Amino acid sequence: MAKIQMKTPLVEMDGDEMTRIIWKQIKDIVIEPFVDLKTEYFDLGLKHRDETNDQVTIDAANRTNELGVAVKCATITPNAQRMTEYDLHSMWKSPNGTIRAILDGTVFRAPILVNGIKPFVSCWEKPITIARHAYGDVYRDTEFVVDGPARADLVLTYPDGRTESQTIFEYKGAGVVQGLYNTDKSIEAFASSCFQYALDTKQDLWFATKDTISKKYDGRFKEIFQKMYDEQYKDKFEAAGITYFYTLIDDAVARVMRSSGGFVWALKNYDGDVMSDMLASACGSLAMMTSVLVSPKGVYEYEAAHGTVTRHYYRYLKGEQTSTNPMATLFAWSGALRKRAQLDNLPELEAFADKLEKASIETIEEGTITGDLNNLLDKENKNVVNTEDFLKAIAAKL
Ligand code: NAP
Ligand code: MG
Repeated sequence: MAKIQMKTPLVEMDGDEMTRIIWKQIKDIVIEPFVDLKTEYFDLGLKHRDETNDQVTIDAANRTNELGVAVKCATITPNAQRMTEYDLHSMWKSPNGTIRAILDGTVFRAPILVNGIKPFVSCWEKPITIARHAYGDVYRDTEFVVDGPARADLVLTYPDGRTESQTIFEYKGAGVVQGLYNTDKSIEAFASSCFQYALDTKQDLWFATKDTISKKYDGRFKEIFQKMYDEQYKDKFEAAGITYFYTLIDDAVARVMRSSGGFVWALKNYDGDVMSDMLASACGSLAMMTSVLVSPKGVYEYEAAHGTVTRHYYRYLKGEQTSTNPMATLFAWSGALRKRAQLDNLPELEAFADKLEKASIETIEEGTITGDLNNLLDKENKNVVNTEDFLKAIAAKL
């Protein structure tokens, strides 16, 4: 059989530990036998990040901006223990943070649904995609424990020295106070990524904040979304047969629990953090969750939602069998190949991405699974296998 050809290479960002092992297995077993794979390879493994003073991460992100589509393996974000383990020169920042800062994107996460693994919310028939605004708010707050009595003021100082101030609270005793910020630029980038992604995937877009209480702060988010929708996306949404819908966060939560899924749910930073954990647990497992970073100018970086699965890696190093679930990493590859195919107009490659996902879902539905799914899949005669055999079962179907 002739291999499927590509035009433009993908930016390939390799990573660490168990996911690095799985990365190579996916390429060897389910992709390269079928596709003449073209990538530009960047080794974001911690050792190489350290050798290059993390320049490799910056180079990979910049190249992604040029080529348009990347696929990334999970990577270690170093902490004190990793400093010793890898004898590092510096405690390098999270690669995902560095890449996000360069691409200025929004992360979209959605569960991979298979028959037999029912979400705990029984009416969810189609995946719900969460778009989290990953900038500012409480994640970059300034706070005090107030040893009152005291008065807290909010003061704005302009470049010309002019000031505006409001009293936040007059404390009679001890308490706490917190300052938050965001910028129009970041909210606009968030909004345009959300509208673009909804159009791309032909799904409705929901957005929710608490603007009845936070009239100016959350109100600003609502205004920016509405203005962008009216001026740039209304016609495109109508043509695609999808809708944009704004509601209060509490109303959205109630509606989501009664919905059948199949939409994009845009959320502020904190709401998105909390709700994506809720969604992942309601759907079973982080290993069955896809994740893609979309920049406002339409650059895509696909990855898994989970980390490097360290505990499995240490067992693997001791020579033990590991049954780590490769689905999220495999879907990062299929997502990137599909996007590349669409941009380069390669229908054969696009069909391959669809078939790869279908084959892997069917493999699970027929009962061949990795260990983590054993308690989740409702089926008799399950066949729990190691990662390599799971991938070989998918390849056989392909
Ligand atoms: P993790 O790698 O997601 O793993 C946590 C646990 O979840 C695992 O021990 C395993 O549970 C289960 N799990 C996760 N993915 C699985 C899979 N594909 N198949 C089967 N089980 C899976 O999180 P972590 O242990 O907290 O973090 C490890 C490293 O990953 C850290 O160095 C962190 O910096 C990094 N990290 C990277 C990213 C990223 O690059 N996007 C994201 C998060 C964390 P059992 O052990 O019970 O089987
Ligand atoms: Mg969280």
